[in-house]
Amino acid sequence: MGSEEGESDVFDVVIIGAGAAGLGAGIALAHSGVGNFVIIDKGPVGSSFASWPEETRFITPSFPSNSIGMLDLNSIAIGVSPAYNMKIEHPTGREYSEHLQSLAEFFELPVRENVEVVRITNEDGLFSVETNDWTISSKNVIWAAGEFLYPRLRGFTGSELCRHTANLVNYADLDGGDFLVIGGYESGTDAAYHLSKRGKNVTMFDKGDPWGLDASDPSTSLSTFTYERMREASFEENVTLLPKNPVTSVELLDGIYEVKSKDGRVFRSETQPLLAGGFDGSHTLVSHLFEERGDGFPLLNERDESTIVPGIYLCGPSVRHDNHDFCFIFKFRQRFAVVAQSIASSMALPTDEFVQAYRDWGMYLDDLSCCGQECVSC
Ligand SMILES: Cc1cc2nc3c(=O)[nH]c(=O)nc-3n(C[C@H](O)[C@H](O)[C@H](O)COP(=O)(O)OP(=O)(O)OC[C@H]3O[C@@H](n4cnc5c(N)ncnc54)[C@H](O)[C@@H]3O)c2cc1C
Repeated sequence: MGSEEGESDVFDVVIIGAGAAGLGAGIALAHSGVGNFVIIDKGPVGSSFASWPEETRFITPSFPSNSIGMLDLNSIAIGVSPAYNMKIEHPTGREYSEHLQSLAEFFELPVRENVEVVRITNEDGLFSVETNDWTISSKNVIWAAGEFLYPRLRGFTGSELCRHTANLVNYADLDGGDFLVIGGYESGTDAAYHLSKRGKNVTMFDKGDPWGLDASDPSTSLSTFTYERMREASFEENVTLLPKNPVTSVELLDGIYEVKSKDGRVFRSETQPLLAGGFDGSHTLVSHLFEERGDGFPLLNERDESTIVPGIYLCGPSVRHDNHDFCFIFKFRQRFAVVAQSIASSMALPTDEFVQAYRDWGMYLDDLSCCGQECVSC
């Protein structure tokens, strides 16, 4: 199918993903003066957030701090505050998805919903973005398809027998009294919190010791929100933590799940074990267009562009530079304008005022010497 009437045949930019990263990058593009772009998503705007387990809330707090020049931590654009907009400090995924929908309307972003990208190729500098509906030609591509819809379901023998927390509708409807949770960072501890609140017994395994780590970067350590939850009586009474004890295998024998861990112990449960082992991420779909870092993430130049195929950029939590990661919104939003400036200046648009405005709001990070530490699975 070709482009629709009134549209240009070749876009300057196609953004894949209408989540926090894709919409934020779209707003920055518009501010930089780029107008001929489209944002496509395989679901509705913010649908990835909408599919979080119902009880799961943001760990980063929202606060209407914009009036003193400090952007709300969960904001994706200058002048926007989810706290002011929703009057909620720790929104659920569904609440945040509604916030994103209101932003897409407010900024009149050119979003096409329910269009899935299946393949991207590049010939003679022009990208062909194949979708289940239509093929789009574009001079530039911003890949912002996130991680949540691409959970990691591997890692040990029998991992496919487990249920990834990303695939849960909610914790309230889970049957069973005893739960085994594999992976103890934010998602695993969130699962343990909601289950323990309902009086369920939870045994949680981790290969490291996320609960005892003393680090200041929330990409590495658990969040304050989570530490507070772990101090609640129901968590202390019902949750057993097994640090430095990775699961080595899971088997299903006569209806009983048998989980073996590194210390040689065997745990049995009638309830399907929950896997909170992180995400493969959507960047695996475009790995042919990027060189790969040693840790499997795409290698990017200083503009978050592919080092081998000019014109394709990455936005969102998979952005990595050396040992710097951008796995939270308040981190990866600082790179939207870097990408937008790169594209705008390639079109000979003036960008000085745009960059200064974004820099003034902490939304233009080009000096990476101020941040550090590795990311763990959120
Ligand atoms: C449980 C959990 C809690 C978190 N809590 C926080 C927090 O408190 N604070 C924080 O800053 N971060 C948090 N994060 C991380 C943050 O939510 C993610 O980093 C964020 O969702 C990333 O935004 P995104 O736009 O890159 O991806 P997403 O929000 O996942 O958006 C990607 C979009 O791309 C679309 N898409 C995917 N594949 C295709 C395709 N092939 N074709 C077309 N469209 C496609 C999807 O439908 C989706 O709408 C959390 C993550 C999880 C999993």
